[in-house]
Amino acid sequence: MHSIFTCKVLKKFRKKGKTVERRRSLEEFEKAKKVIPGGVDSPVRAFKSVGGTPLFIERGEGAYIYDIDENRYIDFVQSWGPLIFGHCDKDIEASVIGAIKKGLSFGAPTTVETELASEIVSLFDGIEKIRFVSSGTEAVMSAIRLARGYTGRDDIVKFEGCYHGHSDSLLVQAGSGAVTFGSPSSPGVPADFTKHTLLARYNDTTSVEECFNNSKDIACVIIEPIAGNMGLVPADEEFLNSLRELCDKNGALLIFDEVMSGFRASLKGAQGKVKTKPDIVTFGKVIGGGMPVGAFGAKASIMDRLSPDGPIYQAGTLSGNPVAMNAGLTALKKLKTDPKLYERLETLALRLTNGLKEAASECDIPLQTEVRGSMFGFFFNEKEVKNFDDALKSDTKMFARFHQSMLDEGVYLACSQFETGFISTVMDEEMIDEVVKKAKKVFGSIK
Ligand SMILES: *Cc1c(COP(=O)(O)O)cnc(C)c1O
Repeated sequence: MHSIFTCKVLKKFRKKGKTVERRRSLEEFEKAKKVIPGGVDSPVRAFKSVGGTPLFIERGEGAYIYDIDENRYIDFVQSWGPLIFGHCDKDIEASVIGAIKKGLSFGAPTTVETELASEIVSLFDGIEKIRFVSSGTEAVMSAIRLARGYTGRDDIVKFEGCYHGHSDSLLVQAGSGAVTFGSPSSPGVPADFTKHTLLARYNDTTSVEECFNNSKDIACVIIEPIAGNMGLVPADEEFLNSLRELCDKNGALLIFDEVMSGFRASLKGAQGKVKTKPDIVTFGKVIGGGMPVGAFGAKASIMDRLSPDGPIYQAGTLSGNPVAMNAGLTALKKLKTDPKLYERLETLALRLTNGLKEAASECDIPLQTEVRGSMFGFFFNEKEVKNFDDALKSDTKMFARFHQSMLDEGVYLACSQFETGFISTVMDEEMIDEVVKKAKKVFGSIK
């Protein structure tokens, strides 16, 4: 059954002379909306901020995804980060199938958990123990409880524009007036929960000092050391060092949320790019190889405060799931074997952003670009972006037109100006040059 909406959108496509057929995705979206809120299981997927409708994906293969209308797209989303080896990597696939044949879950220890933990611990000086959970949200939520339990304090500092999952105390926006205490950014989050979250400005040390002046009860400062959830906005090393100093001076812990940047910016995530050492690190995305995994780690003296050795409670029925652990272990082993891997990914990312920047400037479109390892970002913005306020000044209407037209050209970019793009190991220079060529054409048409 076709809804009126579907017909309207189809007409619009035809009028514009579009040849891209997305009839089945449109139909499925209508069906999905009847039984799933907004038709999606995670809001960004709904394409709301670019005004289109989501593609339903049939399958992936290497650098490409195919929608259910059999259109092919080069994929720069990669499931929002995890798929650093592209789709259907043979090694990860084999390890998952091997694990599945032994049973899906036991709720009892398996050796693969120790193996994956050892792989991660061996890479980071500041991590002696790690615990696995099933998502990034869960990792951060647990890390914050750990910081609070360890310090015996309640308040936390987070930065505007950083995303740390959807747990209550992190769904915070700037409160009214000059106070640094946040207010809920979503209905359903009691103000009593967010009153313990102080908001600071990214790359702005003074704003963090203000937080410490306002509260003597700060358990931790949490930051994406390479922010990827307001577009790609890396923190200055000086700024990260000032966080380290402020935390030490005030007896607070520093948490690096590397759910996205971990094993993406470099093998050691942001910590491979800057010298600042956090107390607790959270992981997700790449460490699951495409399966649902999160993790948080720290020195033993901190981690040992967790249940069952310590009093701080944290648990999970499917935590350390053997199928997910095998996928993650295979991914991490592969990442470790090729010392030139991140250099190659970064070169490709730079080739893409430099190409985009040049093509945009030929059309007098100002574009700010940023790269960290396999992560890339671009803002339709006149000025360099250093924080969330800067990011918000981007031309999101221009981005929406760009996104839609690139989709028509077979390029699948994140459907928001405030997301990060990803390069996978199965991409090559030829693919990147092809995308730049398409972008050149699109910039000319959207101006
Ligand atoms: C994706 C992300 C999360 C949340 O992870 P989920 O697996 O979506 O719950 C947390 N922090 C950062 C930095 C992220 O990018």
